[in-house]
Amino acid sequence: MNGTIRSEPEGKMAATLSGRASHDEAILVVEDEEPIRELVATALRFTGFRVETAGSGREALAEARNAPFDLIVLDVNLPDLDGFAVCRKLRADGDSVPVVFLTARDDPADLRQGFTGGGDDYVTKPFSLEELLLRIEAVLRRTRNQQAEQSRLVCGDVTLDEDACRVWRGDGEIALSPTEFRLLRYLMLNRDRVVSRSQILDHVWDYEFVGDPSAVETYISYLRRKLDDRDAQLIRTVRGFGYSLRTPEAEPTRS
Ligand code: CA
Repeated sequence: MNGTIRSEPEGKMAATLSGRASHDEAILVVEDEEPIRELVATALRFTGFRVETAGSGREALAEARNAPFDLIVLDVNLPDLDGFAVCRKLRADGDSVPVVFLTARDDPADLRQGFTGGGDDYVTKPFSLEELLLRIEAVLRRTRNQQAEQSRLVCGDVTLDEDACRVWRGDGEIALSPTEFRLLRYLMLNRDRVVSRSQILDHVWDYEFVGDPSAVETYISYLRRKLDDRDAQLIRTVRGFGYSLRTPEAEPTRS
């Protein structure tokens, strides 16, 4: 392992690791050279990550199929399947877990292969633990942001989290009933468009619901009471057509 992990002054590793924010994500470390594997695993555990290890490509695939990981540190040069092949198999299984490759190769063709094979980043040996941790943290941050964006709808200062079923206006959370939540979600998905009462009935209420259009008006008024506690009215009635949730940016400016 000499030359694989850059030597650091005595006590530097502890100093490097102890100043970091704590983590709780699960990471799989795949490396056939045991001393490197154990050093990386120990360093990651030290900063709070939950760590599993694998010493071969097939072992890595078995681990990844067995339990979900937030990230895989994947050595390219493995005795059976190389790291690129492992990554391609994971993607073929529909596993989009972020991958940081450990590679001794700095041949650009190999790196290109890694990225087209679905890798998110790479660290070239010899690497320092600090460098590896920075890469891991950056990839996790990026993944978290993407996931958060995917599950959130935003309109002005109203944010709706589809996964957590929560709604905020500004910093304040707003408690909604399931029907109110589905109604707001439908309006947000169609923001700046006008949706009719029957469209709302079709999309928000179960289809066995015997449609009473006045239910829509009732729930719109519930939502307004909970959301429109400020000057700006979010849900507009468009007479003869239905309702519209307007983003403040779409409002004509008045002077
Ligand atoms: Ca190796």
